[in-house]
Amino acid sequence: MSVPVIALQDLRKRYGGEGGGAPSVEVLRGISLQIHAGEFVAIVGASGSGKSTLMHLLGCLDQASSGSYHFNGQDVASMDADQLAWLRREAFGFVFQGYHLIATESACENVEVPALYAGLPEAARRARAQQLLQRLGLGDKLQHRPHQLSGGQQQRVSIARALMNGGQILLADEPTGALDSHSGTEVMALLHELADAGHTVILITHDRAVAAQARRVIEIRDGQIVADSGRLQAKSASGAGKTNASSYQNNSKSTRQTERRVLWAELRDALRAAWRVMAANRFRTALTLLGIVIGVASVIVMLAVGTGSQQKVMADMATFGAKAMYVSAMQGSSRDRAAPLTLADAATIRLLPNIQSVAPYIEGRLVVRRGNIDHQTEVGGATTDFSEALSWPLAEGVWFDAADEQRLAKVAILGQTVRKALFADGSSPLGQDILVEGVPFQVIGVLAAKGASGGDDQDERVVVPFSAASARLYGHPNPGWISVLIRDMDQASATGDAILASLAETRGAKDVRLWNQAESIRVQGETERTMTLMLGLIAAISLVVGGIGVMNVMLMTVRERTREIGIRMATGARQRDILRQFLTEAVLVTVVGGAIGVALGLALGAVLLALGVPVVFSLSAMLGAFGCAVATGIVFGYTPAQRAARLDPVVALASE
Ligand code: ADP
Ligand code: MG
Repeated sequence: MSVPVIALQDLRKRYGGEGGGAPSVEVLRGISLQIHAGEFVAIVGASGSGKSTLMHLLGCLDQASSGSYHFNGQDVASMDADQLAWLRREAFGFVFQGYHLIATESACENVEVPALYAGLPEAARRARAQQLLQRLGLGDKLQHRPHQLSGGQQQRVSIARALMNGGQILLADEPTGALDSHSGTEVMALLHELADAGHTVILITHDRAVAAQARRVIEIRDGQIVADSGRLQAKSASGAGKTNASSYQNNSKSTRQTERRVLWAELRDALRAAWRVMAANRFRTALTLLGIVIGVASVIVMLAVGTGSQQKVMADMATFGAKAMYVSAMQGSSRDRAAPLTLADAATIRLLPNIQSVAPYIEGRLVVRRGNIDHQTEVGGATTDFSEALSWPLAEGVWFDAADEQRLAKVAILGQTVRKALFADGSSPLGQDILVEGVPFQVIGVLAAKGASGGDDQDERVVVPFSAASARLYGHPNPGWISVLIRDMDQASATGDAILASLAETRGAKDVRLWNQAESIRVQGETERTMTLMLGLIAAISLVVGGIGVMNVMLMTVRERTREIGIRMATGARQRDILRQFLTEAVLVTVVGGAIGVALGLALGAVLLALGVPVVFSLSAMLGAFGCAVATGIVFGYTPAQRAARLDPVVALASE
């Protein structure tokens, strides 16, 4: 005697009773039954007698309250969720009264679903699905959606799906219930054919005439078997190869390659499904995307503009070094003139802490001449500290030294613009004489080019020793400004205060002005940091808002597609397959949103750039914003996906 494929012993199923308020109802009351491979069994009974409940138990979609169910000799109660999914996938094929096709997929894709979870390569999958549909007379309807097919055709599609992975045991619950008599006859003929080909067919019906067509009829009433025509010994165990549940162990270990293929196939299937859902609900999708798009785009634009303006300010300021300060006398009114700066003031500053160097500068606009070329320019008297204090090196030649300073030496250093004006012939200015206000000065050096700062050409300049400028050119010893270089940037503010305080004391009045470039750069840096923090906050908020949108839509999707989830589970999807699918959908939304956001950010930045706003794009900001968007999809998509994966197959299938 062979082992029965299905052996039930005193199987019971109870609904309710556990705290839910509803009284406990025993729907199946002790079913004992054996079905062997190759049998064609009809289970007949009135509506409400428990037939569907029994079928769900047989197909491992649901668990019994008590009693035992052995499949090929192995206790089903000992199997975990993945093993049950494997049984549904490899051993059973379901045919439902309501067809249960996935509405958004074509006939061919619907038939392929079970093979997808079995890891059949795409080409083989497609070929087999087409072959099955052709065999069932639907060769010309491969690309039709379920709603484009008649009931009989849909039922044939679902039979093809049941056969996709072999379908050794076909479980058909009222397969003709929703069909007209002609289509019903066709479907019954098909089941006959399959039974003859060796499939075990379990047909559930309330219709005695339909049941009578099976080789064995089991009658069920109020959850109990009341009649069993018994097994025909004829040509039973001949048929299709067995599905031994214990082979699951081997199978699950079999190949990592298969697993990877399943992963990839599922990913593509999930992407395709996600894309269709997004396309079918365009408006909703657009709204969901909007949050992500705005978040990503705003981060990119704001950072680009922030970086751009920061770099511009820094570049402007860096002209004279970041650690510089300038002291000048206040203008005062014409009646109450402020006292000019003196060299004593420079000496006072030099004694303060955190001072690197102090360079007084006496200035005015004068005419310089070489040969017959006259050129009006800024002529400054400076001490030997000039170069260091203003971070301004020479391009060629040498600086004047303390001795030159002492003896009021008539030596000059030219700025690049002056050099170009006076030595347009390209000859070297070094060692040559020029006239400054008629006084001959010998050129000993040329300053490095500085460019424009604050709208002034800094290279429009001649520098001579302070003493010489004071005595020979201007006739007074008062510097126009004093340039100060500090050591420690962090104390810029304190040093500035100290300078003002000590000058107020020595001069007896608060009549100098300090331009604290070091401090403004430091403040700028701090502002920048605060800005970055704010931007980060805005980005985080908009991404969270976007994420909530994604989560909301995913929860809606899961609710709307509960039946699809049930169908996928009935055809063998594991929990993790479902989880993966919905997570993929969530991530797809955020990937698309992130990509659009990056594009939009770039476009807005380009527009600003065209309008003259300094914009500096940063790749890391773009990648970061995009990455955050995708991470949001994973974080906020997980809960809905998990909710989908944990659905009970029977409950999911029953939902509308
Ligand atoms: P059939 O398929 O024979 O018409 P079912 O197996 O669908 O009958 O249902 C048998 C009985 O079990 C019915 O009385 C039905 O109301 C009850 N039932 C089915 N599913 C549930 C459920 N999830 N919760 C409570 N009662 C249920
Ligand atoms: Mg039913």
